[in-house]
Order: sequence, then structure tokens, then C-alpha cells
Amino acid sequence: MKLYNEPSPLETRVISKRFGTQNSWRVDTYLATGGMQAFKKACEMTQDQIIDEVKASSLRGRGGAGFPTGMKWSFVPRQSELPKYIVVNADESEPGTCKDRLLMEHDPIQMVEGILIAAKAVGASKGWVYIRGEYRYLIDHMDAVMKECYERNLLGKNILGTGFDFDLYTQTGAGAYECGEESALLESLEGKRGVPRIRPPFPAVSGAFQCPTVLNNVETFSTVPAILNGGGKWYAELGTPRNGGTRLVCLAGHVNKPGVYEVPLGMNMMYFLNEIGGGMLGGRKLKAIIPGGSSCPILSAEECDIAMDYDTMAKAGTMLGSGGMMVMDETTDMVKVALRIMRFYNHESCGWCIPCREGTTWLRKMLVRIIDGNGASRDVDLIGDLAQSMLGRTFCPLGDAAALPTISLVKKWRPEFEAYVAKNPFASTELVQVA
Ligand code: SF4
Repeated sequence: MKLYNEPSPLETRVISKRFGTQNSWRVDTYLATGGMQAFKKACEMTQDQIIDEVKASSLRGRGGAGFPTGMKWSFVPRQSELPKYIVVNADESEPGTCKDRLLMEHDPIQMVEGILIAAKAVGASKGWVYIRGEYRYLIDHMDAVMKECYERNLLGKNILGTGFDFDLYTQTGAGAYECGEESALLESLEGKRGVPRIRPPFPAVSGAFQCPTVLNNVETFSTVPAILNGGGKWYAELGTPRNGGTRLVCLAGHVNKPGVYEVPLGMNMMYFLNEIGGGMLGGRKLKAIIPGGSSCPILSAEECDIAMDYDTMAKAGTMLGSGGMMVMDETTDMVKVALRIMRFYNHESCGWCIPCREGTTWLRKMLVRIIDGNGASRDVDLIGDLAQSMLGRTFCPLGDAAALPTISLVKKWRPEFEAYVAKNPFASTELVQVA
């Protein structure tokens, strides 16, 4: 397996500590490096004790929404006549994000152990790892990992003699961004078209096949064994209050050392960029950072001296998101960034609700018109207004994901939009033909 970047001594490697170890994905390596101890510990705990430990860790879902994991698990009904399930969201498709694939490549059994602990906590006996269609190579890899887990009794009946049974399967997506949204993922998992469900009920009560389901992403499950081993308090103290532990950040763009790094929550973004990421490529000036995947409002250079945790980022009007950080230097054309982002969301819109289907289409068309030199002054306002009107009016977060970066781009880099409009000799004409 290829290691995508050299580790930095400034990282805090908790879930990435086996990255780079030879055969890190094999059962022997996992057991020889402390693997499955957390599961054995969980088997001696009550369900409440496991959930309380996860709550004490302040672990928040690493998929993007940042919902407290222990709380999510506690919503699964304790008494249920229906079977309970575990679903892993491995549909990593947020642009700029590429860390779940590394966890599955380099340390997949850590994730399996996290799944088993979650299953123990809620009383589930079956689960699926839903892998995005574009990660085709990973599906064979994960199947091989699970086959070995079954052969070595890390999955199946009476796991490691604990009396606990659990079956785990892989399921592939078909390459739709939308299926990263949990309810659309469940529809797809059940073999239907991947469109979101109207909620409530939430998956903890009615998830896969209408049964109570714990649904978390790869990084979240991968973190659970370390929490059980080290204790929730230890893990929480690695980060900041309410933002426990570490997370993987995928650093890309105009930096000297792009890669996936594990850092404590609360690390300063500029420190991370300069000391771990090696600073700006070619010594050029920083212009902007997309902090956590393309759906996040974009930070200008002046706003990047900020702690990377959920609450601080929210106060700054953006999100930690999925950990996909994209760095842009002074040469970046922000109007073209807006179009690049909008093309993606327009393409990925499932078309179910009008504000998203029509909104992304018209935003894309207006951005093309401006870049082609056919924009009118009012188009810049119209882009901002249209994006604003999409917020909170769609069935799933894709509508917001398209609108939020667009609003921040128009607000913070308006002169660049105006400069394109100024190239159009008919810019002030009232009626402009839409392409
Ligand atoms: Fe589909 Fe977009 Fe509506 Fe989500 S917001 S349901 S992707 S049309």
C-alpha cells in the first residue's frame, strides 16, 4: 500500500499510528500492536458503560455534521423486537476529502473493532460497510480483510471466545455524492434510488430496512477502540472542551507538503499550514482556505488564524466539515472556484427538490455567463440572493452545501466578480439573454 505522505513529528497519531507499518491491514499485525483489546474490554462492560465512555470522549461524528457519537448511540432503543444494525458510511465523496480511504487501506481492522464495540453497545448483530462506487479497488481490499477477520474469528460466531456474534458485509454505492447523506445511503443500501428520506424518524429508530441503526463514518468508528483503551477522559483532553480528540485533515492545494495528517482538535490553522504543511507553495501569499470540504463557507487569509475545532469554526461562520482542507494562493481566480464548486453540486443534485435542482442549475449558468464576459452588474447580486434563498429549503444538506460556499465567495471576493462583469461592454443593459 502506498503511504501518501511522510508523517510529521508534530502530529498526534492515534488512529493513524499504524499507517506505514508493513502489512498494517493484516490480522497478525493488528493483534501484535494491541488490536482487539478494546473489544475485549467492551465485552466486560455494560451497554451504558460503553456509551458513557464514548460520551465522555466528546467524540463528534467525523463525517461532517459533527453530531456527538455517544448521544447518537444512546438514541437506539434498548428494547426492540426488530433486529439492530450498524452501517458504516464509507461513501467518502466530499471534494477534498480522502482520509477514510487511507483508514480502510492502512488500518481497516481498527474500524472493524470500532464497529464491534458499537454493536456491543446497542445490541446489533449485523452490519454493512457502504463504500463509494469510485473506490472500486477498496472493495476487493475490504472483502479480503473481512475474509481474514472471519477466518481468525474477529467476525462471525462467538468472536474471540466472548460469546458475541456479528456479521459484516461490504456494499458498494454507484458513485452518487448524494448517497453520503445518511438517509439516501440507507435507501441505496436497500437497493433503491439514493434519495433522502423525510425525517424523523431518524436512523437510530428506523434506519436500514426500517430497523434501529447506528450509522457513522469510517473515521468515527476507527476512533472508538482508542477511546475504550485510553478512556474517554484521556481522549477528550487531546482536543478542546466539547471537541474531543484528534482528527485527520486532508491538506491539498497550493502547499508544500500536501497529505493526510492527524492533529488534535483546536490546533491553529496557520500553525498547521506552515509547520506541518510546509507553508505556501513557491512562497506565494495565502488567499483563501476551504476548511473542511467544498461545502464549507470559504475563509479569507485574514480569517485563517483560527483554532480548528467544531465550535470555533462555527463561530467564524464556517465548518470543520469532513476534514478536506484546500489551500489557495494569491493567483487563484475565485470566480472560477465558484463555478468549479457549482458544476460539481449541479451535477450531483439528485433533482428531487426544486431549490437544489433549479438553484444549482441557474447558479452554474450565471457563473458561466459572467466568466464568458456576458455578465450584467445585477448578476452578482442575483447569485448571492439565489444562493441565500436555497438555504434551509431543501430535503437534504446538498442544497446548503452548494449555497454556502457561493455566498461566502460573493461576499468576500465581490470585486473579482465585478471585474469579470466590467469586461462586458453591455454589462449595464437591463435585459440580458441567459445562455
Ligand atoms: Fe436531492 Fe438536492 Fe434536494 Fe438533496 S437538496 S434531495 S440532492 S435535490
